[in-house]
Amino acid sequence: MTKLNQTILETLRTSEGHMTAEEMFLFCKQNNIKVSLASTYRILGNLADEGYIKRLAFAGQPDVFDKTLDEHQHLVCDSCGKVKDILIKDFKGIIEEAANEKITSYSLTLNYTCRSCKKQRS
Ligand SMILES: [Zn+2]
Ligand SMILES: [Zn+2]
Repeated sequence: MTKLNQTILETLRTSEGHMTAEEMFLFCKQNNIKVSLASTYRILGNLADEGYIKRLAFAGQPDVFDKTLDEHQHLVCDSCGKVKDILIKDFKGIIEEAANEKITSYSLTLNYTCRSCKKQRS
């Protein structure tokens, strides 16, 4: 892995958990790491393809990259797009039992309004 890829991976791993390519690009810019937005997007995509991180696709939003590989679910803020992890224990098992089918994979989006957006509104 190149030093730049390593830096980007480490940055995501020390973040709250989720970043878009643009957020990563802005972080790099602020920290004098020389990389273009296109390269940031490509590197994050490669890291996801290689299984170091996960790529999350939400409708109407840029892809979000996730440092957590273990199974978990996501709440997505309707207003700002902020992604929050939640863990419903044995979620796959519950669905498999309800459907009486084996689930191979899933992407689940639960929408909500995050605290800071709620505050701004009131
Ligand atoms: Zn929000
Ligand atoms: Zn996550």
